[in-house]
Order: sequence, then structure tokens, then C-alpha cells
Amino acid sequence: PTLRNPEEWCRSFSHFIAQCLIKDFETRPSVTHLLEHPFIKQAHGKDMALSQQLSTLIHEQQELGCKLKTKHERINTRKTLIIESSPDDDLVNLEVLDEETIIKHLSKRYDELQIYTYVGDILIALNPFQNLSIYSPQFSKLYHGAKRADNPPHIFATADAAYQGMVTFCKDQCIIISGESGAGKTESAHLIVQHLTFLGKANNRTLREKILQVNPLVEAFGNACTAINDNSSRFGKYLEMKFTPTGAVMGAKISEYLLEKSRVIKQATGEKNFHIFYYIYAGLYHQEKLKNYRLPDKKPPRYIENQHGKVMQDITSSELYKEQFNAIQDCFRIIGFTDQVNSVYRILCAILNTGNIEFTAITSQHQTDKSEVPNAEALGNTAALLCIGPEELQEALTSHCVVTRGETIIRTNTVDKATDVRDAMSKALYGRLFSWIVNRINALLHVAESGMNVGILDIFGFENFKRNSFEQLCINIANEQIQFYFNQHIFALEQMEYQREGVDASLVEYEDNRPILDMFLQKPMGLLSLLDEESRFPQATDQTLVDKFEDNLRYKYFWRPKRVELCFGIQHYAGKVLYSVNGFLEKNRDTLPADVVVVLRTSENKLLQQLFSSPLTKTGNTHTKSNNVLDSCVDTMEMMRHPEETTNMRRQTVASYFRYSLMDLLSKMVVGQPHFVRCIKPNDDRQALRFCKERVTAQLRYTGILETVNIRRQGYSHRVLFEEFVNRYYYLAFRAHQMPNTSKENAVAILERAKLENWVLGKTKVFLKYYHVEQLNLLLREV
Ligand code: ATP
Ligand code: MG
Repeated sequence: PTLRNPEEWCRSFSHFIAQCLIKDFETRPSVTHLLEHPFIKQAHGKDMALSQQLSTLIHEQQELGCKLKTKHERINTRKTLIIESSPDDDLVNLEVLDEETIIKHLSKRYDELQIYTYVGDILIALNPFQNLSIYSPQFSKLYHGAKRADNPPHIFATADAAYQGMVTFCKDQCIIISGESGAGKTESAHLIVQHLTFLGKANNRTLREKILQVNPLVEAFGNACTAINDNSSRFGKYLEMKFTPTGAVMGAKISEYLLEKSRVIKQATGEKNFHIFYYIYAGLYHQEKLKNYRLPDKKPPRYIENQHGKVMQDITSSELYKEQFNAIQDCFRIIGFTDQVNSVYRILCAILNTGNIEFTAITSQHQTDKSEVPNAEALGNTAALLCIGPEELQEALTSHCVVTRGETIIRTNTVDKATDVRDAMSKALYGRLFSWIVNRINALLHVAESGMNVGILDIFGFENFKRNSFEQLCINIANEQIQFYFNQHIFALEQMEYQREGVDASLVEYEDNRPILDMFLQKPMGLLSLLDEESRFPQATDQTLVDKFEDNLRYKYFWRPKRVELCFGIQHYAGKVLYSVNGFLEKNRDTLPADVVVVLRTSENKLLQQLFSSPLTKTGNTHTKSNNVLDSCVDTMEMMRHPEETTNMRRQTVASYFRYSLMDLLSKMVVGQPHFVRCIKPNDDRQALRFCKERVTAQLRYTGILETVNIRRQGYSHRVLFEEFVNRYYYLAFRAHQMPNTSKENAVAILERAKLENWVLGKTKVFLKYYHVEQLNLLLREV
């Protein structure tokens, strides 16, 4: 009878679905299963209201599914005190551990919108390419201090584990997020910060709000749209969240690595400049302030003009850009930037104007290699925004001083040279502005007291474009380094420790990428050193550089393709990449003529004075060694350490600074207890619910997930000295006043009393599986 009244029919039908869903959820969430039902397929899509209700229900289902499952398992856990890691949630628990089974398993989970899966204590995160409603404050509450097996795998669980680890063991933690470009590293980093701010709330709301603005602000300046990812990180970021010993958040610090400055002046086809340029242009356009910042309003500046010419309309009609500009203004205000913001905008607009400065050749009888600026408008705008004299600026761009035999001679610049100097000035302005913003944030979120911290590493992912240049090479070397650290931690160290302690460990084989790293970083014959050496010869060309590589790099990972000119190939851990050496030398030299620096220093703009008052090299970074130093990582660090490059004021190349930054990053990472998040990109089309088997398999293979499954299954991820173990857990077997000896026997007594199984004793340590620690902590809480 309801069919006579369609509205009522819809309502009762939806009600019926809701009931089915809830029923279904007590066992397993299964959205796709439901959507594939012929009856639902028929109804879905025909009726807008019903479709809307269905999608709301699907979202509710996800939340509900988590809660019901949790409640269900919690009851089990309380009753029996057996930690039930659902076999579905952890690859380590699969009966069959081959590639095919793992892929099938991940694919099934992905279909059910279960994007997270554990491999022991490592989290695999498949990019859902759609918004999921699993990151609300309710979810933060759900994961707060919960046992891992209580809830389905989640990025909040990893953040929580790091936080609990820090508070319980008073030890710094470090979350390393890796994966290809577009795999979801930056999103994961945001979610981690969100959960950590929730956990460390204390009573300082303002501080929490400030910390939450850090990522959006830095990313507006450091991220851009690439062929692979609309919000691709073009710099590496290590964010340390600082906490008091009781776990209240008290500040944050960012370290930035290797911003891809060349993007300011040129972008590959289909790519864009850094987001901030579009935000500011659209924002000022809507506020009708383009004139105040001397920006053209008919045609966008050349640096943000795209190849299709439609850009003006795109920028000015984009509500998104406009809103983002407002959001950035809020970020600046909340974090505490004051009157400097206007100077930041002026410098950004000056960079846009700089790109519009053009040069023409002056050919006279006596001089043929001279250039001039035919249209003074862009030059005048730039000079006005930078508060410098236009004549001085023109002179710095079109000529340069040379000192020979104590005499200063002024030489003119050709058009090409002047264009290079102009672009070098833009890059330098942007690079220094970016570093200044980062330093300023650090100063504003500065914490005087020493506390503990959780560091979150989000670097640019591995890249392989049609055409790869120096930037891709640096990005991929950084990824090699992170992979090396992962291998060191998961495989090599684990095995070494077993052997030292006399615990049986059937050796797990893994692909060691150390030789490739050596090929890049070794001195004096590694690829980066060879590049530096060649960069010192003014006569060097792309050809001499690639010949030098070929003559010296006798590794199986390096090859020179026969048919492609001026190219070389590298077999990275993540695949083969062909690099074009075109522009390598210039990009590595990254020269900014002294004449330009001198003019910029005359500026009346305080911020600009500040940007150019510091020395060109970054100094003052300290190399801290940890107690639990990863020996071979430190070897690599030593190998990368080149004091002469950081202590002298010798001109520094991008390659040498890059090598130094990598060392600095590693030195930060090795002091903390690591947690790994491996982001995986399920398809290349950014489509939701599309699981491309080949792509996922490739990523699982090269990141060593398969080997990880093996070692985690057999492995003991926690090893605690007998002494430490007894001191920490003696309450579980002894009375509080007894103070037992910290002997092996007493450690065994505690383990037996706690009714743990499958632990092993080494010579000096108890070897525990990852779930033992949870069991012990739970027991401690109950005591
Ligand atoms: P890159 O190395 O280029 O910086 P990345 O690994 O940082 O890449 P992200 O920018 O984090 O990649 O993710 C790319 C896009 O994937 C995001 O813009 C977002 O649309 C989507 N995405 C990633 N993770 C999630 C998630 N958990 N929920 C919803 N969408 C996501
Ligand atoms: Mg990113």
C-alpha cells in the first residue's frame, strides 16, 4: 500500500535500510555489499531524496560500525583479558602470507572503506580519495588511551601510541610518514596533529588553535599543484610537537627541508606555482586592492600565468582561492604575526612583478652584449614594493661588478644573463621569505622549558615524471634515505639485536638500498660530489657533467641510455627513473649575484633587510647523537657531514646543503622512538573505491611491506632490559614495598604472573611481542 504514496514509500524504505545496516554492522561494516544489492541498485540514483538519505546512512554506518565493533570487542576483552587482534585488522595475523593474499585482503578492506590496516605496529594507509567521517572529535575520544585491539586500525591509533609512548617512557617519539606523491602523507600528518592537539589539550586553548594553523600556513607557501597531486608538498617538513612531562601540549617547532624554489619562476606543463601566489592575487582582486600592491588587473603576472591562457578567469572566479586567502589571513593573525604580514604581501607581490620585468639587447658599435629594460613599469613596481631605488635595481640586474687585481670593473649583462639574474632574485626572495615565515612561527610557538616531543615527518614523496630534473633527483635521494632508515630499523637492527642476545631469528631477506645511497652521497666520488666538482668549473656543460657521471659511477644502479641525449637513469628502490641533466649545473650553483644582495640590503623595508642580512648559508645546526644510536645510520650521517661546508663561508651549492639537511634530519629522527605510517596510492586517477592491484602491489613490494609482515609476525618488537622491566612492572607480581632484585628470575616471575605467552628471554633483555606491552600496561592500570 505504501507504493501508492511515493513519499511514504521512501521514508519507510530508508527506515528499512537503516535497520538492515545496523544489523549488518554488528558483524562487519559492508557498504559495497549493500550497494550492490539489486533492489538497492534499482532505487539508488532514481530518487534524489533517497540517494541523499543513502549517502548519509553510509556515513553514519561508518561511524556506527566502528562504535559497535568496539563495544563488542571491549566486552570480550574485559571478560577474558585476552587481547583479540581481529585477524582482519593486522596482516601479521593472516594464515597465508603471500603477495596475492595480502593484496586481496587489502582490496576487500578498501572496498569496505577500511583504509587502514596494521602490519604489527606499522600502519598502512590507503588513500580513500574521498572524505570519510571517521576523523571527528568522537573518534579522537574513541582512540584516546585505548588498546590497539579495541578499535579498528586508524591514524589516530598511531598518534595515540606515540603520545602514550612519550608519556609512559618519557621518551621522544617520531612518526615517519612515507609514500609516493599523492599517497596521503600530508593528510595523515594533519590528522596526527589534530589528534595530538586533542590529547595534549591542557587548558591552553589559544596555543592549540595556533598549532592547528601551522600546517595550513606553511603549506600555502610550500605546496603546489603538480601533475600528480593538486596539493603536493614541495618541501620536506619535520614538525615537532612539544609536551610537558604530564603530556600537555606546550609548543611546536618546524624544520623545513629543500624548498623547490625553481617553481617560482617556471612550472612544468599542467603544473602551477606555489598556492600562495594564486590566493593573494585572487584575494586582492576581490578586495579591489590589486592596485595598492601594484599588480596588473587585466592579465595575471607571468609567473602565475598558465599555458592555456585562461588563468585570469580561473583565478578571479575561484571562490576557493578567495576563501583560502581569507584563511591565510586568519592563520597569520591567530599564530601572532602582526604588522609584518603586510611586508610579506609586498614581497610576494614584488616577486610577481619581478617576473614581468623584460630585457632587450642594446646593440651599438662598441658594445653588443648589453641589455636594458624597455618598459619600466614592472621594474618600477618591484622597486616600489621592495622599497629600493629603481635605477639601482636596474643596474643590479643588467650589470655586475668584477674585482680584478684590486680594481673593480663593471661589466654589462646580456639579455640572457639579466633574465637569469632576475629569476635568481625571485627565487632568493621567495626562499628566504619561506624560511623567515618558518622561523617566525617557531619563535611565536617557542617554548622555553625543555619537555618531550613527538616529531612528525612529512616529506615530498618519490617522484617519477615524464621529464625529471635536479629537483626530482633530490626528492628521490631523500626518499632513499627514509627507506634506508626504515630498513635499518625494521630489519637490520632487529636481526642484529637477536643475534647479540642469542635469540633465534631466521634471517629475513630484504632489499638493502645502502649501495644506492653510497652512490649518491659518498665523498669524493658520489654523484652529488661529482656534481659539485663540475659546478665549480665555469666552462662545464650538461655534456661534460653527464660524461663525468658515466666515467665515475660504476654501479649497477646507474646507466646512460644510448638513444636519449643528456640523460642518465637510476634504479631507485622504488623504480627506474630517467633524469635529464639539462640545467643541473645552474640549479646546483643557485647563484645570486652580490650586486643584487647589496641593493636589496639598502631597502627601507625591515623585513627585507632582515631576509638579506644573514649569511647565505644556514649555520648553527647541531648534530645530536642519541644513546640508542643506529650505528649504520650514523655512519651515513658522518659520511654526509662536511664541516668545511658549514663552518667556512665558502659558497655553498644546493647539493652540499641538501646533503647537510639530510644529515640534520636523520640526527633528529634517530633520537626518538619511531612509528611508521606507510601511505599507499590505490590508483593514479585519484578515484574513490578504485583499487588497482598492480599499483598497490608495486608499492607494497618496494616499500618492503611483505618482508615487514614476515618479520613482524615472527618478531619481538619490544625488548626491555631485565632491570628496566622489573622496575616498571614489579607491582604485577610483588607487593609495593618488596623492591625485588632486578634479576632475570624476577622478570620471569612477573611474566608468568601476568599470564603472558610467547615471550622470549635474551641474555640481558625480555623479548616481547607488540601486544604484550598493551597487556602489561592494562594490568598495571588495574593494579
Ligand atoms: P606529496 O608527496 O605530493 O606531497 P602526499 O603523499 O602528501 O603527496 P596528500 O597531499 O596528503 O599526498 O594527499 C593527496 C590527496 O589525497 C589529498 O589532497 C586528498 O584529496 C586525498 N587524501 C589523502 N588522504 C586522505 C584521507 N585520509 N581522507 C580523504 N582524502 C585523502
Ligand atoms: Mg604532501
